[in-house]
Amino acid sequence: MILWDRADQLAEAISAEHGKTHDDAVGEVTRGLEVVEFAVGAPHLLKGDFTEDVGTGVDSNSVRQSLGVVAGITPFNFPAMVPMWMFPVAIACGNTFVLKPSERDPSASLLIGEWLAEAGLPAGVFNVVQGDKEAVDALLNHPDVKAISFVGSTPIAKYIYETGTKNGKRVQALGGAKNHMVILPDADLDMAANALMGAAYGSAGERCMAISVAVPVTEAVADALVERLVPKIETLKVGPAADKASEMGPVVTKAAQEKIIGRINKGEAEGAKVVVDGRSFTPPQGYENGYFVGPTLIDNVTPEMTVWREEIFGPVLSVVRRKDYAEAVDLIHSHDYANGVAVFTRDGDAARNFAQDIEVGMVGVNVPIPVPMAFHSFGGWKQSLFGDHHMHGMEGVRFYTRLKTITTRWPMGVRTDPEFVMPTMG
Ligand code: NAD
Repeated sequence: MILWDRADQLAEAISAEHGKTHDDAVGEVTRGLEVVEFAVGAPHLLKGDFTEDVGTGVDSNSVRQSLGVVAGITPFNFPAMVPMWMFPVAIACGNTFVLKPSERDPSASLLIGEWLAEAGLPAGVFNVVQGDKEAVDALLNHPDVKAISFVGSTPIAKYIYETGTKNGKRVQALGGAKNHMVILPDADLDMAANALMGAAYGSAGERCMAISVAVPVTEAVADALVERLVPKIETLKVGPAADKASEMGPVVTKAAQEKIIGRINKGEAEGAKVVVDGRSFTPPQGYENGYFVGPTLIDNVTPEMTVWREEIFGPVLSVVRRKDYAEAVDLIHSHDYANGVAVFTRDGDAARNFAQDIEVGMVGVNVPIPVPMAFHSFGGWKQSLFGDHHMHGMEGVRFYTRLKTITTRWPMGVRTDPEFVMPTMG
């Protein structure tokens, strides 16, 4: 209840450090709170299995037990939601939790910690350690830490997975993304264009489920889509998070701003066409020092270009034109990342085939950002996830618990002389 009642306050702290708009930050907190609601159903989630009479007078039951101390290392882009993918489930499963949030927006974690203490959570159950690599390495190497949940960029995810597992820990490490949206010729193009606006430019593209590549199938669809997108992008309201009229805020740091502009430069040098150019965006008066990048549209991107291959993590949408469905699928399958994907179509057969065959962890059919609800699980494939478990939902419960199976005999009327053969059902 405290978290629900103070969602606005938490959102304000997020916007102030991250730069995302207030409504977007409230959305993030809401999605995180859904996991809290899921986790309070722990008695149901943790109930075990029981089989009576697996042998004469013998019963068998399985229980899920906690691991002990578990840790979460989280990225800057969702300073409340991503920790909430982890700690509610971890704690509900009986563990204590150490959170190492991003050094770029540390306040949300501290507010959550204060409020959990106020709500009566015993000291030591939820802990926050601020810092960067040094703090991460301390967790990775500490023998008391039994499991690590990580969300961030792919090179660090790989490092966390390799080091953590080498040290005998259970690790789930979610990495970067390059999410495609396929627009088939029968799609409702107005709907697809509107969906792309939110999915590409919401939160300045700093979402692991942002759509960063539009894949219109056929040249005619590509032309019609670009024609619809351009005026929408040109009129998108970019401004500070504090201004309620802003639809998109600045990016997180100067380094991020420079990196995003560098990637656009590279795409242009590689031969792509910058149709709407956010590099020259003029910040609103009073915010000249803000790290703004205007919404950018790059057309005629091809799979040979780094602008397609690399994650940009900014308000940049690339258009890769494909001539048919098979080419679109091949494009997606040739990417290293496989976090999210969407298809826009009115054709049920095509949508069903796509959902079944596409090698990506989270799929949307006419849904641009298919972030699973708390009672399902979140995670990508390929270089977007290292480990065996996705986050929250039953996958989270399995990750934060270990299974114990107990076989019980009550010896009334059962033989008691020694047995040296493998126990069987007799
Ligand atoms: P990042 O990898 O730079 O940082 C993530 C965490 O790792 C932070 O807590 C940081 O302090 C720590 N870290 C950074 N460098 C480290 C190092 N050398 N050794 C040990 N720890 C280190 O990521 P970011 O820039 O904060 O977040 C953006 C990235 O996160 C993007 O790549 C985005 O796609 C990804 N992301 C993925 C998901 C997902 O669900 N797959 C969700 C959100 C963000």
